[in-house]
Amino acid sequence: MLIPKTHPRAASLYIREKLVHGFREGLVVEEGLLAHGRGEMFDYLIGEKTTKTSHKAIRAAARALLSAKSPVISVNGNFAALCAKEIVELSKVTGAKIEVNLFYASEKRKKAIAGTLKKNGAKEILGVDPKFSKRIPKLDSARRVVDKRGIFSADVVLVPLEDGDRTIALKKFGKDVITFDLNPMSRTAQTADITIVDNVIRGMGLLIKTCKELSGKDLEEKKFDNKKNLKKSIGTIRKNLRRMANA
Ligand code: ATP
Ligand code: MG
Repeated sequence: MLIPKTHPRAASLYIREKLVHGFREGLVVEEGLLAHGRGEMFDYLIGEKTTKTSHKAIRAAARALLSAKSPVISVNGNFAALCAKEIVELSKVTGAKIEVNLFYASEKRKKAIAGTLKKNGAKEILGVDPKFSKRIPKLDSARRVVDKRGIFSADVVLVPLEDGDRTIALKKFGKDVITFDLNPMSRTAQTADITIVDNVIRGMGLLIKTCKELSGKDLEEKKFDNKKNLKKSIGTIRKNLRRMANA
């Protein structure tokens, strides 16, 4: 790591390094680097920290994952490059399956991602064997292929950094969708059932910690209003922009 910890933007530069490393290892595509740039911008606007609102969403997500019958964690290149260790840990804590599901699909990249997850302790990775491919209806070609043992038959799916079309298709297909998305206005953020407006690199550790705390406890349903939560995140951005403009 070349960045001194005392650098004022150490955290975001460290995340960039992880992503560039993932790019060089064949996990991340160029478009993924650009999507990260959009995320960084929103991270800056929410203050580069986990807000109270996001903590609330993380708690709701932990409850949903722990009470699901067949939860699945959907993994793309960026998510694997940033959180490989945490993906495996979350899967162990919740019993969720791990499925590689790519916007820009290629067998080579799927293998690279699966290899990284295995290096981090994952036993079974879905989405890599075409023998188990199934199609989500109402979504165009390559993007609709999922694993019949995974997303196809899941009740709850965690799909971080996801494109809106896919999230909408998953919703139409009857899935409960949890996402991490730094942009509270994106179509994914607005369509999901639970949106954690936080950087995956901060939020995943907190989600694991919360799942560990709640595991084995009585998970009786608690109300969670995603729209209200998203409005609060947009409010945080508005407040920060006003503060920056007046500085
Ligand atoms: P949508 O299709 O949902 O309207 P979009 O087209 O603006 O969103 P996409 O590229 O499809 O964006 O999806 C990537 C999303 O992931 C963006 O909203 C971006 O803010 C978010 N994002 C990028 N990096 C991170 C990260 N490290 N943690 C959390 N969210 C991130
Ligand atoms: Mg999109």
